[in-house]
Amino acid sequence: MNVDNSLTVIRGIGSKRAEVLGRLGLFSLQDLLYFAPREHYDLREAKKISELKHGDYSIVKVEYIEKPKVSYPVINGRRTPMISVVIGDDTGKLRLTWFNQLYIRSSIPDFATGFAHGRVDLSHGHVMVNAVFCPAPPGMLPIYPLTRGIGQVSMRTCVKSVIYELNGVYGETLPDKLRLEHHLCQLGYALENLHFPINPETLSIARRRLAFENILRFTILLEAMRARSLNSAGIAFDTSNTIEEFIALLPFKPTAGQVSVMEDIKSDMSSPLPMNRLIQGDVGSGKTILAFYAMYTAYKNGYQSALMAPTALLAEQHYAHLKDMFGEKTALLTSNLKKSEQKEILRFIKSGEVQFIVGTHSLLESGVSFNNLGIVITDEQHRFGVRQRAILGNKALSPDVLIMSATPIPRTLSLILYGDLDVSRLYEMPSGRKPVITRYVPQAKRASMYRYIESELISKRIQAYVVCPMIEDNDEVQTYRSAESVFAELNDKLNVRIALVHGRMKPDKRDSVMSDFRDGNIDLLVSTTVIEVGVDVPNACIMVIESSERFGLAQLHQLRGRVGRSDKESYCFLLSESRSETVADRIRTLVDSNNGFKIAEKDLETRGPGELLGQRQHGSSQLIDAFMLSDMETLNEARDTAIELLKSSDPEDAVLVKDTLRRYSSLLENITIN
Ligand code: ADP
Ligand code: MG
Repeated sequence: MNVDNSLTVIRGIGSKRAEVLGRLGLFSLQDLLYFAPREHYDLREAKKISELKHGDYSIVKVEYIEKPKVSYPVINGRRTPMISVVIGDDTGKLRLTWFNQLYIRSSIPDFATGFAHGRVDLSHGHVMVNAVFCPAPPGMLPIYPLTRGIGQVSMRTCVKSVIYELNGVYGETLPDKLRLEHHLCQLGYALENLHFPINPETLSIARRRLAFENILRFTILLEAMRARSLNSAGIAFDTSNTIEEFIALLPFKPTAGQVSVMEDIKSDMSSPLPMNRLIQGDVGSGKTILAFYAMYTAYKNGYQSALMAPTALLAEQHYAHLKDMFGEKTALLTSNLKKSEQKEILRFIKSGEVQFIVGTHSLLESGVSFNNLGIVITDEQHRFGVRQRAILGNKALSPDVLIMSATPIPRTLSLILYGDLDVSRLYEMPSGRKPVITRYVPQAKRASMYRYIESELISKRIQAYVVCPMIEDNDEVQTYRSAESVFAELNDKLNVRIALVHGRMKPDKRDSVMSDFRDGNIDLLVSTTVIEVGVDVPNACIMVIESSERFGLAQLHQLRGRVGRSDKESYCFLLSESRSETVADRIRTLVDSNNGFKIAEKDLETRGPGELLGQRQHGSSQLIDAFMLSDMETLNEARDTAIELLKSSDPEDAVLVKDTLRRYSSLLENITIN
């Protein structure tokens, strides 16, 4: 048995289970071992009922128990079966409730014994939802990011089986010398404690080791890419007067920030080395014209340029603007086109008849070949893999590369994530834009807020977004609202045109809902974070974020950037059921500030790099998980170590570097940053 074996070698993981795990990007034993739990519930010790805090996941001792009751309360207009049982200890009583789960009845003990753990809900009395009974406290309980078809209990069993089968043989991946020098535990200890730590301290020892190694390897890979590009000859574009000429084509005056980034681009493009530049700027800060400027410069020099956007809608939007400025020389390539149209466009791209080329992932396909590609631009980079950007780069000898991202990442973190790139930052917004008015809305006012929104949508003919942290209701995390349930509820109550959009819908269906919204055929759009990227709908002036405590600050800020895109007053309403002080403090940051960089710094400071970058995406690579796992100090130490290793003449170090380039290069492919 070794870590590269497929998961099906494990007893208890059949082809059906393997298929579900595959959807999470888990195929080998190693994949599962590195699949970091989202969090752990600390259930080492029972709490007294009087100490329970709203929203926490806790365990209590059952010292008293009544007879369970079954009732059928009406919820969302439907009679819903509910079981409840009152338990108690010497400090008070607690009601345990389960909805739609009548089978729970048989697991409820007849007399006071053992423990019960579950989510505490103090909003109407002392309640614990979906409690689980157990004979003894289970310790530190791992909670995984899951998908339909597998629950936490099965996931834990799978991980336990893998650990059991490997029987301590993990194969250490770091040289002892390096490991000891940096106080890193052994790989086996790290992997076992990543899942089933004895206490929070062993968990952080485990995470530190894994984060360190991942950042070490990640940095080696990035530095190798950087070295490759520094050693290749790029195009030295003639950039004289290009800024002035380009500005003359614009319908508005660029901000000083925009001009200064154009100057960065200008100097990169005129240099004989290939440009590798990242532009960071808040949503709405005006990054698009910077891309257009670079494309214009390439065009003036007789070169083609390619702009890749993460969605067809966004690509169409860019295309429309480019066409306004540059007319017939522009082409759009997406998978929405008919085969015959696609063929014709591919021909134009190859022959050089078109110069300004916009598209989606379609641009990466092998059938696309350019006549003389001079510059490659990716918009909303965080949605693309590092590797994808390399593929597009390979479509020409050494084109200039420009990347645009709306994720304002603090400098310290940016160095680790984008060590291979030069970074320009846009701090200011174009003038005349009104800041979005942000308000915290307590649960008690939720219903009247929606009634207010309904009347605003009707009387002002504006539109609204409602964003939820997840697609469907989930037994594990019942305290968060799902897009499906909010959609059902609002569709029932509000007298406006409502639609639902989320990431599990087919892309063309999703695009068609988004186009309907853009065209004003939908008043209120309930969605998950899929709307974070993309469409400019100036008429959408209200944004509601349900269960906002579930999102990182930077992400909330990005979501908020979807509104405030016209001269109308815009609002962002943040809802949360949590009453914790930290949640209140985070919401205050957003209410008080409209500056993405400031907000990101605050996020990094208070919650660490993991929270800032968001939850692991399904199928994302183990490398990026490192950012979720540890603190900045460890990440910086790992990066510095990698850079030393690259300079070192010690043969053992050289082996480590070589091994990284050989075994981990393919992992770059899946790196996406939220
Ligand atoms: P993002 O940085 O999110 O990509 P965009 O480039 O889409 O932002 O710009 C948002 C809006 O602001 C667009 O409608 C764009 O035309 C407009 N805009 C950009 N720069 C300026 C400016 N200097 N003055 C006025 N409007 C601008
Ligand atoms: Mg943009």
